[in-house]
Amino acid sequence: MAERYARIIIDISHEKVDRTFDYRIPERLCEDVAVGSLVLIPFGRGNAMRKGYVVGIASHADYDRDKIKEIAGIVTDGVTAESLLVSLAWWLKEQYGSTMNQALKTVLPVKQKIKPKEKKVLRCLLQKKDLLTALQEAEKKKYKARVRLFQAFLDNPLIPYEIAVNQMNLSSATLKPVIEKGYVSLESEEVYRNPIKLEATGKSRVLLNKGQQAIVEEFRRDYSAHIRKTYLIHGVTGSGKTEVYMELIDRVIEDGKQVIVLIPEIALTYQTVMRFYGRFGNRVSIINSRLSAGERYDQFERARNGDIDIMIGPRSALFTPFSRLGLILIDEEHEGAYKSEVVPRYHAREVAEKRASMQDASLVLGSATPSLEAYTKALRGEYQLFRLTERAKKDSRLAAVSVVDLRQELKEGNKSIFSRPLKALMEDRLAKKEQIMLFINRRGYANFVSCRSCGEAIRCPHCDVTLTLHNNSRLVCHYCGHSVPMPDRCPACSSPYIANFGVGTQKIELMTKKMFPSARVLRMDLDTTKKKGGHEEILTAFSEGEADILIGTQMIVKGHDFPNVTLVGVLAADLSLNTPDYRSAERTFQLLTQAAGRAGRDFKHGDVIIQTYSPEHYGIVTAASQDYESFYNQEMAFRRLMKYPPANVLFTVQFSSRQEKLLTHGSDAAAAFIMPQAEQERVQIIGPVEASVYKINDIYRKILYLKHENYDILIKIRDQIDGFSETHPELFDQIMIQYDFS
Ligand code: ADP
Ligand code: ZN
Ligand code: ZN
Repeated sequence: MAERYARIIIDISHEKVDRTFDYRIPERLCEDVAVGSLVLIPFGRGNAMRKGYVVGIASHADYDRDKIKEIAGIVTDGVTAESLLVSLAWWLKEQYGSTMNQALKTVLPVKQKIKPKEKKVLRCLLQKKDLLTALQEAEKKKYKARVRLFQAFLDNPLIPYEIAVNQMNLSSATLKPVIEKGYVSLESEEVYRNPIKLEATGKSRVLLNKGQQAIVEEFRRDYSAHIRKTYLIHGVTGSGKTEVYMELIDRVIEDGKQVIVLIPEIALTYQTVMRFYGRFGNRVSIINSRLSAGERYDQFERARNGDIDIMIGPRSALFTPFSRLGLILIDEEHEGAYKSEVVPRYHAREVAEKRASMQDASLVLGSATPSLEAYTKALRGEYQLFRLTERAKKDSRLAAVSVVDLRQELKEGNKSIFSRPLKALMEDRLAKKEQIMLFINRRGYANFVSCRSCGEAIRCPHCDVTLTLHNNSRLVCHYCGHSVPMPDRCPACSSPYIANFGVGTQKIELMTKKMFPSARVLRMDLDTTKKKGGHEEILTAFSEGEADILIGTQMIVKGHDFPNVTLVGVLAADLSLNTPDYRSAERTFQLLTQAAGRAGRDFKHGDVIIQTYSPEHYGIVTAASQDYESFYNQEMAFRRLMKYPPANVLFTVQFSSRQEKLLTHGSDAAAAFIMPQAEQERVQIIGPVEASVYKINDIYRKILYLKHENYDILIKIRDQIDGFSETHPELFDQIMIQYDFS
């Protein structure tokens, strides 16, 4: 039998992944040693026995064959979380195309010694009656931060200090006087850990309604019968999905298992976080981007040591080192943030499926607007589908949505950004002292050109995406490279009113203040939220009634509950409709549905106005009628026709280089090389074309698109490109190749 070698790392950490050692795998162990195995090896001069993880297996070693040592044995007592993560890294590498190092660095947290920081908790020392008096007093004096604290204490007498500072924006200046007055005490974690559990004193649980109950029962039945699968909960905003999640978590931790909950960073607000703390107390840990590397490592250590059962966080929480994982939950499953922007470009949903199957765990996805990928699988029966079609709170209804045709407004002489119906409703709400959100769904760059007379955006004749304006002179398709000079009249109706479509939040703020001079206006966008906590600060100010109108991008449509918001205006729905991306209709539908979900969360009647130049577009029509099914059917028909995902797998190869000529040579050569195989397998190839932003930091990028319904065939082609580039250094020496599947 041919010799086999294992590549081993001894100290499994982010920093040491480059330090690998080669060992021979003795024949007797050949069957058992795999990537992820924990093995015993003789190490160093004295050949002391050390443990190490296998991160790769090869038929040759980089080390002198005569000097190479053998693996002494395999450690079999229990599977460690590390060993699972190493196998998962291997899968990431294979699946998405990266090096093993990149994959390992994705799954392992950065080890960083931090001073063991004492965990602290704020405890309310007041009786309920006194707390209410203190709250009233603070309200009278307009001590907003103090009001926030006391209100939170009404639900929970214990609040983790971190949450008070990070999520509730309470400063030490707020906390000091209430501590000095003896209203509140600051205690260390030892006290906080035991004997009190937050749960015992927390809010009473809601009584689940029939729809929620059905999901919980079915899950429990499956779970007890050892059936592990993927569930998709399609539930409108406010239908009670989070309550369901908490019941499911209960069942799983009852069993001694652990749970990972993924929530997009932007939705990880104080309200959400406290609901989980209120229910599960100190068995919960949270990671977010505000944590330093050291703090994050610390949270992962707590998970590894079994100090916690539940980890809540964004995408990277998926790699929490739980060895007894029983459930992964992904809320807002459709969110773009679940796809990694760096190599390996994994999608959290796919990795969660893999991790769940490795650890025999269940997977639950939830969304008001499921991704086409997930819904397609649910319809095929690969996922079990549940629906929650009504809001859970009594008397809370979905808002009334109407669409306003901006072309008509222009025709009738209204050139402002506020249509007449929107303006009328805004005046009404300002008079009633209710709040308004104005939303521009701008995402990425909105550099397309459209006609203000007929509403047509100028599109690529081959790809059905909008063309992008380059240097104010040419329109270019980012999918196929098609390019035309910028016309001076609309190709559809010959109107001269065609222009680059791009309105910023700042401009809208100015126009709003001009139109409604007495209204108090807040703006939330990348500029105003740059500083730490800025995002939370603006939302808090708005929810405390410090402004009448909040203007913002998609940032404002998530997370916080604003019971006093009764009007949401979407200023130009076309902004997200006409981005050069095959997902633009899906994004638009999601954003509009979410925006609509913000109005009338409580008992007041809510209105939503969607202003658009394309009122007949199915993405807008179906969002206005809140008809997901209809949207799904029309969008899938489009994807099938265009062979876009999820009807097909889209495999993207990106070549990048500082040398433009070499880049063209290399990418053309790679495309030519795979052509025969691609033709034989009927893979559709487009390109190489220039990337949507061709040059970034003096690096040029070209993209090759391949489409096929069979993922494995595309993987084969990827391996061919890999092989070809490795054997032709003269072509690819200065070119970097990255892969992406969607
Ligand atoms: P989602 O996660 O689907 O947006 P939530 O779980 O946040 O929905 O529920 C929305 C609101 O309705 C919350 O305030 C929640 O406490 C409440 N709620 C959920 N389920 C019920 C129920 N069965 N009875 C009463 N209120 C409920
Ligand atoms: Zn026109
Ligand atoms: Zn095109």
